[in-house]
Amino acid sequence: MDMTQTKVPELAEVLAENQALRSRMAYLLEQAERNHSIMMRHQAFDLDIVSAGTFQELVSTIFRNLPIISSLDAVTLTLLDEDADIQSVMGKLGVNFAEFPDLLFADSIEGLGIDLAERTEGAKPPKPRLCMYDPLRHAYAFPSPLHGLQSVALVPLLRNKRIIGSLNLGSSDPTRFTPSMATDFVEHMASIIAICLENVISNEMLKYIGLTDSLTGVYNRRYMDRRLIEEISRARRQEYDIAFMYIDIDHFKRVNDTIGHQGGDEVLREVASRIKNELRLSDSLARFGGEEFVVLLINANLDSAAFVAERIRASIAASMIDVSPSVQISVTASLGVACLDRSVLDTPVEAAAMELIAQADAALYQAKDGGRNRVISYRPAT
Ligand code: GH3
Ligand code: MG
Ligand code: MG
Repeated sequence: MDMTQTKVPELAEVLAENQALRSRMAYLLEQAERNHSIMMRHQAFDLDIVSAGTFQELVSTIFRNLPIISSLDAVTLTLLDEDADIQSVMGKLGVNFAEFPDLLFADSIEGLGIDLAERTEGAKPPKPRLCMYDPLRHAYAFPSPLHGLQSVALVPLLRNKRIIGSLNLGSSDPTRFTPSMATDFVEHMASIIAICLENVISNEMLKYIGLTDSLTGVYNRRYMDRRLIEEISRARRQEYDIAFMYIDIDHFKRVNDTIGHQGGDEVLREVASRIKNELRLSDSLARFGGEEFVVLLINANLDSAAFVAERIRASIAASMIDVSPSVQISVTASLGVACLDRSVLDTPVEAAAMELIAQADAALYQAKDGGRNRVISYRPAT
């Protein structure tokens, strides 16, 4: 090829082209930097949610950080909770749902609003739906939508192809989520959120199972032993009274003999529920074993604890228990009450806890001895 034939570009042309390339380069650099910073923020977010130790922590991190890092105007999270187990366990573990108005629960997949037609198409898991916001169609995901919501992304949360909920993102920018957009990014985010949710939920469930009695749903002995130690330390530090109550159903062997073991179990459930009805939120009830229950009362002296104990005794004795539509039985219980002696501060808390339990047990023994269906308060010999 004859090189001399090539047209030599004018200087002005070269300069203009150079300028265009430079600004294109500057634009690309700026984009790369912006993407990098978005990625860094998302990585920090991923780390935050992965390290959340509890359900409460995870959910608050999502609602606090996701709208900021992703510049979203609305974020809601719907969890599939068919038998309301998640709600009941989290509630019992102290999660205050009023703090999370954007945390929603659905009792069926239909309630998640995930398109079923789309879902049954082959075995493929559902894809995120990116579209214009429609107040009617999206009411399940945004029950109290902010004014000016324009586009939404409804992202299924999947674990092993199973739907566990949906992450619902909303923007006041109509072009933010459109059907033609790639969904890899939101899918990735949803998959991390789904893993974290599943982890904390199963951890919390295990925690709950380990601390409760499966028959009656009240706390178990392990929980009470631990709780007692904590509460005794606190009561000593902050100088208030705590009381402990031992409750034992009278002649429970006869109850079992009369109505069978399963009937006996029903009686245990009903007695637990009657005890619970007489307690304050700050009191805790545990089944210590067999037909024995204990109650820890915070900020209660011996007299007020004995007063509560008398109400419990009366409530158990007051009416027959419906064991089945055709079987009713009446039971009574004996109660022993003791109060932590705060004048003794030099004993280790563990010993103080054992002492408190032993005192309530001694009072219970006296109640049995005195004829049952009664309350006795432990009074140290003076
Ligand atoms: P007392 O008035 O002296 O307390 O008499 P009691 O018959 O209640 O005495 P005891 O503590 O000896 O008997 C408790 C009975 O509770 C024995 C056992 O068969 C029964 N029991 C223990 N655990 C369970 C349970 O989970 N379910 C049922 N149905 N019965 C239980
Ligand atoms: Mg007993
Ligand atoms: Mg008994």
